[in-house]
Amino acid sequence: AKHAGGNLARFYTHAMNDAVRERVNIEAGLRQAVARGELALHFQPKMRLGDSSLMGCEALLRWRDAEGRQIPPDRFIPVAESCGLIVPIGQWVADAALDQMLAWRSAGLKVPRVAINVSAIQLAQPGFAPLLLDALARRGLPNSLLELEVTESVFLHPEGAALEALRMLRSRGVRLALDDFGTGYSSLAYLGVQAFDTLKIDRSFVATADAPGQARSAAILRAMVAMATAFGMDVVAEGIERDAQRDALWRLGCESGQGYLFGAPMPAADFEARCLSARPP
Ligand code: C2E
Ligand code: CA
Ligand code: CA
Ligand code: CA
Repeated sequence: AKHAGGNLARFYTHAMNDAVRERVNIEAGLRQAVARGELALHFQPKMRLGDSSLMGCEALLRWRDAEGRQIPPDRFIPVAESCGLIVPIGQWVADAALDQMLAWRSAGLKVPRVAINVSAIQLAQPGFAPLLLDALARRGLPNSLLELEVTESVFLHPEGAALEALRMLRSRGVRLALDDFGTGYSSLAYLGVQAFDTLKIDRSFVATADAPGQARSAAILRAMVAMATAFGMDVVAEGIERDAQRDALWRLGCESGQGYLFGAPMPAADFEARCLSARPP
């Protein structure tokens, strides 16, 4: 028994060391990532379900590390948030997205609304809102072409600087979307939804939207759509992969969506070729 316990202890120590080592490696790699040009944005279309026209896109961060490995954002964003690197990385994301919009405009294309993901930590940085407005103004881009996707975690500090920054940005026309709706601190989010233009329904609800006998998930989806509509918000369903899901959501009153059915996140050049058209004269 003693022997087995010893092995178990060693096993846990190894497992813990692996987790710690991975964290430390990610942090060390991330410190260099911006300077080494290892970050890129991919773009995923958001569609109107009624006529399958483009309503905008979401910019999603991609990191290919020094050894050429793609590290998924779900692994490095939490590390970046806990060590503060999310601030310079988020700054890079905003600049890269705005530069891309400018490039599309210069190429004579109709610039779509672009959404970027913003962490509550970034929003709470002093000067976040004025710096972002300045970045838009310097490029001559209308504020309403930019959307920020924020998760329910922003409501954890209701009196905080993050919500103050959101209020300021919205008053100047920047669009706000509440991301992953329904997954987190929902009771707080329900109280705060009216601060947002768009509700993004998490894909966990979308996954079962077309399953037979899913009266419960249909009822939840219908309630979310009804609430959003009552507040005059747009609703975007995330993670639509099948025709039947799109059809079920449309029947429940959801007017737009995003997912592999319409296109996975793709490099800017592919997005441009597949989704963008020339600006009307
Ligand atoms: P998210 O904001 O909820 O982004 C949607 C995620 O769902 C993306 O994963 C996207 O590739 C994936 N997705 C889109 N359509 C489908 C579908 O039809 N089926 C399935 N199964 N998945 C789909 P990704 O790109 O791996 O990003 C993961 C998360 O990382 C994002 O979730 C977001 O929370 C975070 N993230 C990504 N880029 C940034 C960024 O620039 N800043 C911050 N703070 N977070 C980011
Ligand atoms: Ca998002
Ligand atoms: Ca989401
Ligand atoms: Ca998410």
